[in-house]
Amino acid sequence: MQFKWCSDCYLISSGYIESNLTKKLISIIYFPWWEDNSNCYCGELLVFTSNCQKYCENCFIFFIGCRYCLTTNIIFGITNQSQCKKCKRVTTIILDSKKIISINSGNSVLDDFLVSIRSYQSEIAKFTSVIKNIDKCFAPSEINNIFRNRHKSSRSLMKYIPYSKFTNVKKIAEGGFSIIYQATLLDGIKYDFRTENILILKKFKNSQYAEEYLLRELMSNHYGYTDNRNFYVHMVVNTYGFTKDPRVDRLDSYILVMEYAPSGDLHKYLQKNFTEIDWRKKKLVILFNITNGYLNFKHIGK
Ligand SMILES: [Zn+2]
Ligand SMILES: [Zn+2]
Ligand SMILES: [Zn+2]
Repeated sequence: MQFKWCSDCYLISSGYIESNLTKKLISIIYFPWWEDNSNCYCGELLVFTSNCQKYCENCFIFFIGCRYCLTTNIIFGITNQSQCKKCKRVTTIILDSKKIISINSGNSVLDDFLVSIRSYQSEIAKFTSVIKNIDKCFAPSEINNIFRNRHKSSRSLMKYIPYSKFTNVKKIAEGGFSIIYQATLLDGIKYDFRTENILILKKFKNSQYAEEYLLRELMSNHYGYTDNRNFYVHMVVNTYGFTKDPRVDRLDSYILVMEYAPSGDLHKYLQKNFTEIDWRKKKLVILFNITNGYLNFKHIGK
C-alpha cells in the first residue's frame, strides 16, 4: 500500500524570486517534503554542493532543502538565497557560477546567451499546473514522476565546451565564410552527445564573419528548436554549443560545435551549412527583434 499525503496539510506552492545573476524573476516551487532525488527532472545527475543543496548543470534547477523542516525549495534559475516556506529561515545558496564551465566561455555576450536559454519561465507553467490540479491525497513520488515526464523532452542545452576536450581535429571542408573540421570529443558521455563522440567544428574565417554569424547560428538553433522542434530537425543540423581556440583571442577563435552528419551524407550536410537560406534569415530578423537584449554583437541585422 502506498502512503498518501493530504494536500491541505502538505501544501505545495509556487512563486517568484529575483535572480541576483540576471535580475529577472525566476520561479520557485515549495515542496513540503525532503526531496532526496539524485537526478534532475531532465535526467542529468545532480551536483551536490552540501547535504541540503544540489543543482543540475544542464538546466540550472536548484534543490535547496531546509534541514529543520525537511522541506525543499526547487528554484528554476541562479540566485543567491532561498527562504524556507515553513520556518522562514533564509539559506545562502552555495554556488560559484564562474565555476560552471558550460556557461563561462569568457565572452560576456555569449555567456549571457547561455544563461538566458537556461531560464524556464515558459516551462514552469507545466509544473505549476500540476500543482494546482493535485489530488486531495497524493504521494510525493507521483508529483516527481509527472515533473519528470513533463521535463523529459527538453534536450541538452547548448553549452561552452573547452577546446582541450577535443582531439583528432581534422580539416574536412572549406566554404566562403567558414572552415569545417571533424573532431573527437573526449568525455562525450558526460556531454550527452550521440554518434560516437565525433562532432563537427565550424570555424569562421575571420572575426567579421564570426561577429555576423556566430550568435545568429546559436540563436537560430535554440529558438528554432523550441519554437517548432520537428520542423527544424530536418532543416538545420543541431548545434551543441561552441568552443574557443585558446591560442588566439579574437572573435574568430569562437568555434561552433555541431552534430556530425549521419552516415554518408556529408556532401549534403556541408552544402546545407554553407548556403544561406532566405526563409531562415527572415525568421531570424523576427527573433532578433524579440531578443534585442542580445544585440550587443556588432553588425547583427545588417
Ligand atoms: Zn489534512
Ligand atoms: Zn536538469
Ligand atoms: Zn524550514
